Amino acid sequence: MDHRFALALHGGAGARRHRDYRREIAHMRGLVEAARDRLARGAFALDVVVETISSLEGSGLYVAGRGASPNTAGRYELDAGLMDGRAGEVGAVAALEGFESPIAVARAVMQATPHVMLAGAGAASFARSQGLAEIVDPGAWFTRAGQDESNHPPGGALAHGTVGCVVRDGEGRLAAGTSTGGVFGKLAGRVGDTPIPGAGVWADQAVAVSCTGQGEYFIRTVAAAQVGMRLRFAGQELREAMKAVLGEIRSLGGEGGMIAVDADGRIAMPFMSEGMKRAALHVDGRIEAEAF
Ligand code: ASP
Repeated sequence: MDHRFALALHGGAGARRHRDYRREIAHMRGLVEAARDRLARGAFALDVVVETISSLEGSGLYVAGRGASPNTAGRYELDAGLMDGRAGEVGAVAALEGFESPIAVARAVMQATPHVMLAGAGAASFARSQGLAEIVDPGAWFTRAGQDESNHPPGGALAHGTVGCVVRDGEGRLAAGTSTGGVFGKLAGRVGDTPIPGAGVWADQAVAVSCTGQGEYFIRTVAAAQVGMRLRFAGQELREAMKAVLGEIRSLGGEGGMIAVDADGRIAMPFMSEGMKRAALHVDGRIEAEAF
């Protein structure tokens, strides 16, 4: 253990200037502090990612988990993806209904099945078989956290929100996870980048990445894995690689941001949307949390 742990998390790139994010910023800072304490005691990157994302999902403050919004059919279909960089393992769920923590279901897919992704009714019946927490009354459970963010999407773009976390633990293991309610007004059955390994989430031995933004563009550019490939095959620096991928997304007409941590614990959190709720613990112990 070299104790050089670092972590970053985000609460979505759907942040809008007309809103006050003090509550979310305080919440994210608290989660970073809790994660720091677990990492100092030797916690695994993957465990910290899952615990942090479960807390983001359960808070109801972000457009993921409890804060998700319904699709055009009035249903809450959620996506989540998780990746362990050292083992190269993946777990994901798409269009999952009825469970409190989609990232917990993604983890169960990783650890209790030979598959990497389960979708829809099959994902729900698998989650039930694992005894994962079910939503008893969706009407009372969901908070529709981002409704006021969806009022003024720039340029008619699809408003959205997501949570994610990337960790480099004290043993140098990297892990990434992302969880979302998707974009507002999405069609039934729509799946974004969030659960797709390489699009909205990626971890290998060099970097862990979690994306947020208009998922269709992140899928089209294989955004998260592209960052990893730029580091690996083009020898680029972390920030340079991420900015190049975001530039590609912008040139296609998309918007969003991403967070990443590399094997040395370096963190970058670039975005080209109006804002991105985010927080980080740097290797020197410095904590930052902001929305713009
Ligand atoms: N990327 C997510 C999706 O398209 C939304 C977001 O990040 O805000 O489902």
